[in-house]
Amino acid sequence: MNILVTGGAGYIGSHTVRLLEKTGGKVVVYDNLVTGHKEAIKNSLFVEGDIFDSEKLTDTLKRFDISSVVHFAAYSLVGVSMVNPREYYHNNVVGTLNLLDVMLANGVNKLVFSSTAAVYGEPETSLITEEIAKNPTNVYGRTKLIMENVMADYSRTYGLNYIALRYFNACGADVAGDIGEDHQPETHLIPLVLKACLGKTDKLKIFGEDYPTTDGTCVRDYIHVNDLGQAHVLALKALYNGHGSAVYNLGNGNGFTVKEVIEAAEAVTGLTVPKEIAPRRAGDPAILVAGSQKIRQELGWQPEYTDINKIIETAWHWHQQNPDGFAG
Ligand code: UDP
Repeated sequence: MNILVTGGAGYIGSHTVRLLEKTGGKVVVYDNLVTGHKEAIKNSLFVEGDIFDSEKLTDTLKRFDISSVVHFAAYSLVGVSMVNPREYYHNNVVGTLNLLDVMLANGVNKLVFSSTAAVYGEPETSLITEEIAKNPTNVYGRTKLIMENVMADYSRTYGLNYIALRYFNACGADVAGDIGEDHQPETHLIPLVLKACLGKTDKLKIFGEDYPTTDGTCVRDYIHVNDLGQAHVLALKALYNGHGSAVYNLGNGNGFTVKEVIEAAEAVTGLTVPKEIAPRRAGDPAILVAGSQKIRQELGWQPEYTDINKIIETAWHWHQQNPDGFAG
């Protein structure tokens, strides 16, 4: 297995790279370092490059005799996607189309693709299974759904074999404590809650208290980044064993409100989270909880971290050790 990991220096990418390397395959990280961190992959094979750079991509596939790609390189912030859709369509759609062209031109047909729960929009059922209607409420979700449809067509027509993983809310950090979540700017709930505890950011803004949920705040399914990474390892192995193209949800199957996450963080840290109620954030659905029976049954995926407190503990360990992220 010679694997190219685009966006491998990012948060989910770097955790997955570490797990892929443990399988003994050759792993090459390809990242333009716009949002990724070189420090997160300091012991990995690395090519600095952009997914729009067809020549560099081609050279890299040939030089390392790559036979599969795990494609993380994308923009992923719901809020930003609503105010800057061009950037999102360009990077996530045009960039991925370019990557697919280069892969197919070089005979590489195995792909694990980062998709998202945002493809579902405002689902009518409380537990989301893969086949329900997809009506994304934000641009980010639309970019990923477009690429899922493209990949389905390329699979039928050009022999692409892909597994798309629809991530719910990735969080936590490797227990080693040397890699973790470090986005600039940070917009995700758990790191912002922990940074607020450390006095590293302003009061946490709770985006909306009038959603149709138990306490009025949004419900999300939080999944540990290593459990998410492990699903990529299983997906790749399945593709090498002849598994056909498929799409899987990746979440714990348990939902927590924003206020419950704050309470769990206060229990883990022993600190109080400074917070205030703020208006809703554009594009946020009320409830997103994964039904992930399909990946459990078909790929044998089993999450190790099912307790929100345990997940937050690993994130807290990273933030305490690295209060200024990789820059510190
Ligand atoms: N959220 C919040 N305050 C923040 C950041 C997030 O209330 O400062 C809420 C957000 O509205 C959503 C949940 O926390 O309901 C998770 O948001 P996040 O950005 O972490 O992930 P997303 O669900 O957008 O992928």
